[in-house]
Amino acid sequence: MVDYIADYLQNIRQRRVFPDVKPGYIRHLLPEQAPELGEDWDTIFADVERVVMPGVTHWQSPYMHAYFPALNSFPSLLGDMLADAIGCLGFTWASSPACTELESLVMDWLGKMIGLPSEFLHARSDSLGGGVIQTTASESTFVALLAGRTEAIRRYKIQYPDLEDAEINSRLVGYCSDQAHSSVEKAGLIGLVKLRYIESDDELSMRGDTLATAIAQDREKGLIPFFVCATLGTTGACAFDHLREIGIVCKSDDIWLHVDAAYAGTAFLCPEFRHWLDGIEFADSIAFNPSKWMMVHFDCTAMWVKNSGALHRTFNVEPLYLKHENSGMAIDYMHWQIPLSKRFRALKLWFVIRSYGLNGLQKHVRHGVRLAKEFENMVKSDGRFEIPAARHLGMVVFRLKGPNDLTEALLKKINTSGKLHCVPAALKGNYVIRFTVTSSHTKLTDIERDWEIIKSIAAITGDDEAV
Ligand code: PLP
Repeated sequence: MVDYIADYLQNIRQRRVFPDVKPGYIRHLLPEQAPELGEDWDTIFADVERVVMPGVTHWQSPYMHAYFPALNSFPSLLGDMLADAIGCLGFTWASSPACTELESLVMDWLGKMIGLPSEFLHARSDSLGGGVIQTTASESTFVALLAGRTEAIRRYKIQYPDLEDAEINSRLVGYCSDQAHSSVEKAGLIGLVKLRYIESDDELSMRGDTLATAIAQDREKGLIPFFVCATLGTTGACAFDHLREIGIVCKSDDIWLHVDAAYAGTAFLCPEFRHWLDGIEFADSIAFNPSKWMMVHFDCTAMWVKNSGALHRTFNVEPLYLKHENSGMAIDYMHWQIPLSKRFRALKLWFVIRSYGLNGLQKHVRHGVRLAKEFENMVKSDGRFEIPAARHLGMVVFRLKGPNDLTEALLKKINTSGKLHCVPAALKGNYVIRFTVTSSHTKLTDIERDWEIIKSIAAITGDDEAV
């Protein structure tokens, strides 16, 4: 299997990046019933190529430009191999001390590597701050929203002790930009709170004054503003909310500020991209996905909070069977997350950071950004196309000039070709194709190849539309 994996990754360019299968395809290839007797490994292994690979979208391929990257690397894969073999569950310190201790140490390393203020670190003895590895950015946003809700309800109960939690909850309102990821909407849905979408400016950025106006209007209606999610690196165009302006508003209104930097967080390893973090001292929590661009494979979301007490109050259950001699003295991550158990994810993060070093990871980020700039220049040099939003980091959005259906038809043809894979986004009425440079193995020749394919498909698309 290890040889197969090495060959798979080395020769991935030879595979069609986007599969050509129809829903239900696996049912035609496998029996309806599970085997009565165990099968030998060779028989099982042969089905990887026959059954699985025809239906795989090859996310590690340099021709994969859809979504955001979800990279892996050999140190990361080895980390999970070891974690799976150890197979411990790190819900309390005592359930596997190394799992908890390595996680809190590596989260301090990573926090320092991206320049977070020390209030977010475990090492600072006078604060309740620290990092935790969550499963996803969606879960981190939800955890932050729940923590903000707990704190808001607590504050209101001091002022109005007769109010029930549910009555306060029904008046809570959170905010995010109209460019925020759908996971913020989902967090609001499950948290049973209202969510307001703040109109972004011409740079697709949420600004402090528009947010402040919405908050003031809601207060007048008797609602309780309690949570803001600012996005650094939006999914549609990799735009950045104005963190400092938003932070000042949240601070003066006592609102929990969560920062979702799912993709762009990796770029903060490089000092030249940290200007987008200006104002981070106002945030209560921040999360980004090393599982996107940092070559630590899914799942691994790094989340930091300034006040872990708010998480403890939110997830506070402590049955006798989870108590241990060091309860209350050591970190018990079960109080920082929704599930009880956690995998030993810190191993893969630790292996990746040590194998590449800060320097190697910075090189990786800068390489991706350089290639995205090259692609941007290629698009700009062709008068048929336009780039309707500024390129940031490793992502370019582009479209054919003219009505949206032209670009929609182009994207459909690109994806059915199977030669490269992109997905669309809607930006203030414009249908755009998102092109992210993903793999650390991507070369300039790959980008040139992809651009040639896009141009030739565009030529046919234009003709078709004209007919
Ligand atoms: N936030 C942003 C800005 C994203 O782009 C994404 C996904 O790409 C998410 C959140 C959700 O990420 P996850 O799959 O880790 O929940």
